[in-house]
Amino acid sequence: MEPEELLRPTPKGLYCPPAGFYIDPVRPVDLALVTHGHADHARSGNKKVIATPETLNIMAIRYGQDFAGQRSSAVFGEVMDINGVKVSWHPAGHVLGSAQISVEKDDMKIVASGDYKRRQDPTCAPFEVVQCDVFITEATFGLPVFHHPDDRDEIAKLLKSLEQFPERAHLVGAYALGKAQRVIALIRQAGYHEPIYIHGAMQQLCSYYESQNIDLGRLEPATVDGGDKAKFAGKIIIGPPSAFADKWARRFPDPVSCFASGWMRVRARTKQRGVELPLILSDHADWDELTQTIKDTNAKEVWVTHGREEALVRWCELNQIKAKPLNMVGYEDEAE
Ligand SMILES: [Zn+2]
Repeated sequence: MEPEELLRPTPKGLYCPPAGFYIDPVRPVDLALVTHGHADHARSGNKKVIATPETLNIMAIRYGQDFAGQRSSAVFGEVMDINGVKVSWHPAGHVLGSAQISVEKDDMKIVASGDYKRRQDPTCAPFEVVQCDVFITEATFGLPVFHHPDDRDEIAKLLKSLEQFPERAHLVGAYALGKAQRVIALIRQAGYHEPIYIHGAMQQLCSYYESQNIDLGRLEPATVDGGDKAKFAGKIIIGPPSAFADKWARRFPDPVSCFASGWMRVRARTKQRGVELPLILSDHADWDELTQTIKDTNAKEVWVTHGREEALVRWCELNQIKAKPLNMVGYEDEAE
């Protein structure tokens, strides 16, 4: 069987003709298999969605209970038969509930990894290597210049700044799903146990993570009422990047603007956002992790999607691995 007979890119998303499902469709379809809860992968309006229980719960939190006509949950390690196609689910290490989806029929096995990272993350199950014939990889940081530093060093920068500027609020921009909870968990691992203040837009997702036994320590709402602005001096406040542009951010005393993102390695981006303290924390694989993962899967062929596709395709070719870009549109990770 040719791989394109089993899975092929279409304008609606990756489509599996023999089984009739789409993976992470960008437009409503009858049957959607969803890798994770970020908005560019998980959309509302499908007739039926199959995803991990965590992803289904996250979709319900973000879109409301009626986000799909029907839903069905898939647990890691489970193998399901969908119209004669074997589908199994494996952790992707990207955010809570994130999955790689393995699709197999006859002698062909393709793994769609969605977004993934290889680093240890206290808020989600670690990436699992799945041997396959064709590996579909993201390429968000698919250039050799991208090398993510150690998470602990980035968190140490934040805690050091708190010590140096005890009169200033430290305002950390982090996306509401995944990044925010990971930043909080890493701060806790570094031994900081003061309350952390969170923007209202993060409340529900943080509570959901806590309900899944992910310890985030003491969280309090980052609301300033009346004259108690001073209570935020020397405190950590976490808010979504969108909140930094509005009045909310100006309520805090002389804030140090921090931003947690893999893009913080790029000076132009930190400047553009007016970031004083960049924290290079990514939920995506860096260049070495992308290439290592491709090797680990033993795939004979690689399809590259969303990101810097050309460099990774070229790397595969230089390493005698057949490769092509998928050129799919609609996947711009909100979480970086
Ligand atoms: Zn994502």
